[in-house]
Amino acid sequence: MTAHIISGTQLSQQIRADVTQRAAALSAQGKQPGLAVILVGENPASQVYVRNKVKACEDCGFYSVLEKYEAELSEAALLAHIDRLNQDPKINGILVQLPLPAHIDANKVIEAIAADKDVDGFHISNAGLLMTGQPLFRPCTPYGVMKMLESINYPVRGANAVVVGASNIVGKPQAMLLLQAGATVTICNSKTRDLGYHTRNADILVVATGKRNIVTADMVKPGAVVLDVGMNRDDEGKLCGDVDFANVKEVAGYITPVPGGVGPMTITMLLVNTIEAAERT
Ligand code: NAP
Repeated sequence: MTAHIISGTQLSQQIRADVTQRAAALSAQGKQPGLAVILVGENPASQVYVRNKVKACEDCGFYSVLEKYEAELSEAALLAHIDRLNQDPKINGILVQLPLPAHIDANKVIEAIAADKDVDGFHISNAGLLMTGQPLFRPCTPYGVMKMLESINYPVRGANAVVVGASNIVGKPQAMLLLQAGATVTICNSKTRDLGYHTRNADILVVATGKRNIVTADMVKPGAVVLDVGMNRDDEGKLCGDVDFANVKEVAGYITPVPGGVGPMTITMLLVNTIEAAERT
């Protein structure tokens, strides 16, 4: 059996077409949706990510602002910039690209973003709203994974879902979203004793560790849906995920590729969160 490939690129195109229409409708009422992206320092991967996010905004007809600061920017100065954007009526969403330089407390920065402009969904009050089943903003990557499951009409309710990785930005909110959709959820982390024991029981397997080939074909239940969040480089420097794609696709029922899978969906869901914020104003 060869798995059906869930293309994040194709699904993104459909969702972005809808976002573009909604943005045009808002702009016609003088309420063009606006996203501000803040980048501190010269991290090369972050520079690519913010460029892609700003371009995606422009392609959908958003107003977008990219504020770039040197790595030496003080925490106080960054908080002041966030405060200014919190007050700016043209801005519906604020995103601070992580990681931040070591002298800046990322938690403090995230908490400084107005919760109703926190389009990344990382603010503690948004994490709490998600946890209690009343989400305002869902973190973009796990939200994108849920959209991918929806796109194949997967019956999440009652399914065994295993999330490998327990970070605040991917693994934990992913587990919450799956739980709220009715799945029975297991979360694995680096201390998990026998990862394969858990993954082999998964109807839905989400992998978000940053460890290349952590999931191999013998760890996957035949017919399972495998959603690969990881972004790594292989020996030739090419982008790859956490899953041994070539072999796992022979066992799984559905699988997401890297690149072209969860990655494009993450940016798409940022656009969705921003348009929803603009529509709420
Ligand atoms: P992170 O903060 O480093 O968290 C990694 C998680 O994986 C941790 O919970 C860690 O466990 C767990 N882990 C590490 N080794 C493990 C192992 N051997 N077995 C089981 N669990 C293990 O990373 P992240 O921010 O969640 O990102 C994870 C990956 O997704 C990275 O490759 C990142 O680049 C990628 N990513 C992609 C997108 C996208 O748009 N496609 C978005 C965000 C992230 P502990 O909690 O025990 O440390």
